[in-house]
Amino acid sequence: MKIIKISDHDYDPNWDYDVVKTNKEIQAIVQEITKDLSSKLLPKLNIPSMEVRFVRNINRLGKYIGGTSSRPVVVLDIKEIQNGIKKHNVDIKTAIETTITHELGHAMQERFQIPANEIYAEELAHKWHYKKEIPDWVSLYLAYEPAKNSNGQKTSTKVQHLIDKAMEITRNYPQKWGDCYKINSTAAYWLNKKLPEYNWRFQIWQVKAHLDGEIEDVVDGEKIMTDEPDHILVYDVMTDKYLDFSTVLDDVEVLEYEKIDDMNGQEDRKLMRLLNAIR
Ligand SMILES: [Zn+2]
Repeated sequence: MKIIKISDHDYDPNWDYDVVKTNKEIQAIVQEITKDLSSKLLPKLNIPSMEVRFVRNINRLGKYIGGTSSRPVVVLDIKEIQNGIKKHNVDIKTAIETTITHELGHAMQERFQIPANEIYAEELAHKWHYKKEIPDWVSLYLAYEPAKNSNGQKTSTKVQHLIDKAMEITRNYPQKWGDCYKINSTAAYWLNKKLPEYNWRFQIWQVKAHLDGEIEDVVDGEKIMTDEPDHILVYDVMTDKYLDFSTVLDDVEVLEYEKIDDMNGQEDRKLMRLLNAIR
């Protein structure tokens, strides 16, 4: 029986896998790719270093070793890679590089505490291979990671900046009570567009609120008087906070949440322009 689980950066694939030696030619190729990725890709991912080892009998091209995300360990099955090369008619460099970068995608998913996702791991491999760029989901989640300034204090993230700006503009944007639905929709819609479509972190919610008096609200494009207006909130899964894009809901009891999939609310062009001007 093998006992694993010591501190993650000390992981040795020998504990769990049949680590093998591979021929000099392949070793040289992998070394070259690793060197290239280490100097160009890893800095973009905020990863200090990685390790690539050769193993056999894992029934797939490569594997990211769970728990090593601070310094990812990736194992490659060269036999599987060679089979893949024949099957898909790609060169060995491409096959090895995209296998490693795909596995780095899984390392990033673990680090961001989001579910393992094959499509997005592959997006990293693909984007890096063809464009030398990292996908939006990686940049956005990297932006969430608290950075430290020179005094060691945590600085606000880019995404927080977007949210703050959206809230500031929404707050200062002249609005009547009856306009709130429209304005909230626009701000939420804008935020949603700036965030990954698959939205692991943010969820847009429609909220029914209870007010003391009646206000004018827009429901299905029609203005009505109601004491239960619908409003749009953005729920931030990571911080477990509801980001309120109106001032109307202050001191208002939130009664029910209903998740909405798409934003049907009318777009306010003027507010949209203001929001789009944010960098
Ligand atoms: Zn995968």
